[in-house]
Amino acid sequence: MANHDCDLFVIGAGSGGVRAARLAAQLGARVILAEAAQLGGTCVNVGCIPKKLYSYAAHFADDFRDAVGFGWRVGEPRFDWATLRTNRAAEITRLNGVYRKMLVEAGVRIVTGWAQFEGPHQVLVQTAGGRHHFSARHILVATGARPSVPKFPGCERVVTSDGMFDIRPFPARLLVVGGGYIACEFASIFNGLGARVTQLYRGELILRGFDDELRRFITQEMRKHGVDLHTHADVSAIERRPGGLWVSLADGRHVTADAVLYATGRIPNVAGLGLPAAGVAQGKDGAIIVDAHHTTNVPGIHAIGDVTAKLQLTPVALAEAMAVVHRLFGPRRREMSYEFVPKAVFTHPNVATVGYTESEARKAFGEVTVYRSEFRALKHTLSGRSERTFMKLVVDRASDRVVGVHMVGPDAGEVVQGFAVALKAHATKAQFDATLGIHPTAAEEFVTMRQPVVH
Ligand SMILES: Cc1cc2nc3c(=O)[nH]c(=O)nc-3n(C[C@H](O)[C@H](O)[C@H](O)COP(=O)(O)OP(=O)(O)OC[C@H]3O[C@@H](n4cnc5c(N)ncnc54)[C@H](O)[C@@H]3O)c2cc1C
Repeated sequence: MANHDCDLFVIGAGSGGVRAARLAAQLGARVILAEAAQLGGTCVNVGCIPKKLYSYAAHFADDFRDAVGFGWRVGEPRFDWATLRTNRAAEITRLNGVYRKMLVEAGVRIVTGWAQFEGPHQVLVQTAGGRHHFSARHILVATGARPSVPKFPGCERVVTSDGMFDIRPFPARLLVVGGGYIACEFASIFNGLGARVTQLYRGELILRGFDDELRRFITQEMRKHGVDLHTHADVSAIERRPGGLWVSLADGRHVTADAVLYATGRIPNVAGLGLPAAGVAQGKDGAIIVDAHHTTNVPGIHAIGDVTAKLQLTPVALAEAMAVVHRLFGPRRREMSYEFVPKAVFTHPNVATVGYTESEARKAFGEVTVYRSEFRALKHTLSGRSERTFMKLVVDRASDRVVGVHMVGPDAGEVVQGFAVALKAHATKAQFDATLGIHPTAAEEFVTMRQPVVH
């Protein structure tokens, strides 16, 4: 142990890596963290944070229109893409600095460069200054994932989510390909910012993995908001023509666009990492295979976050980081649980969910009772907007436990976060019923639904 350069060598300073490095250092371990790009990883630089800032920007489009019904007279709103880009970039740079300060203060040594394995305890980092060899008692891989674009004629003309935050000029006509949460969020955001957005998804219903009724509901709401969403549609080729990008679809139709965003999947960041040099076992798309303690087949090498291709969310990467570090260096164990992980999709309107979909619950519990409500929020009685809100509870009939909470509506993530605590605490429908609502809110509907829709 004493011969190693550090107790923990972390590769990747994203959500998981930063949390692991800082916590391990705070617990007294000697920590080195290698990062090839900016501190903060996907979430801070090209994921959750800039995406949410842009989502706020896009919501103003609705707010200006809604204000009129409340007596406000606003001039013709004009959106300036350059201002948003500049302000976002400044905020991200600020956050990069906060991360650096936090890590340095905790005692973490940061090495800027590309890291790769040279053996089970050896890492090489190629920095601007040269090649540096390190040995470590434990190595944690937290290298994340990146967008993957299928090969087809013209695929080099597409942008991925990484390029959307700084795309220039603003794409007046945007084609979004994909039906997952990233595709849907960008479709909503650019639609709100004023682009004419067409979205193509080759499956039947967007947002695979979410509750089917919720998926149908958000499809209808996104269309009402102006996203021209086509399912059972796929791209066969893209050419540049005088009027823009000419996108041929598999069924013979075509779309003309200024930009084509491909958000059809993400693959683990393992290329060039030298995993074979350490003998680390990999699965589909190169994902690092780990056990329940996030350790690979090689003792001393661990992996967390998107590179393990489990639940690719920042809070999951953070929780995995804490579980690993507490097990290796902490006084107490802290196990990771994947049950009742809440999720939000920042479409317009927002989607949020925790627990089982109706069909998953039927498989897991057998008999379930479902409560559903759909309404026009109070605000829209005066705004005149036709947007509707959807709420659904799935209850295990035998135990009366609420096992699924699903919502489409404004600030759904803020609402469902609180209900996630209730589900973790195994709350029953009777306890939901005994809870008083906060009036007048949309969220109160979750504790006032009495009439089941499925017996
Ligand atoms: C557009 C978008 C929106 C998202 N929105 C949300 C959201 O709203 N909520 C949510 O919870 N999650 C969201 N996510 C997912 C979230 O960003 C990821 O789950 C999270 O960042 C994963 O953290 P990580 O630590 O596994 O990897 P990352 O954050 O990706 O960090 C990996 C780091 O490793 C570095 N690296 C890779 N290889 C090497 C190497 N060999 N040497 C040195 N450094 C290396 C990379 O440069 C990177 O900085 C979003 C993702 C995207 C793309």
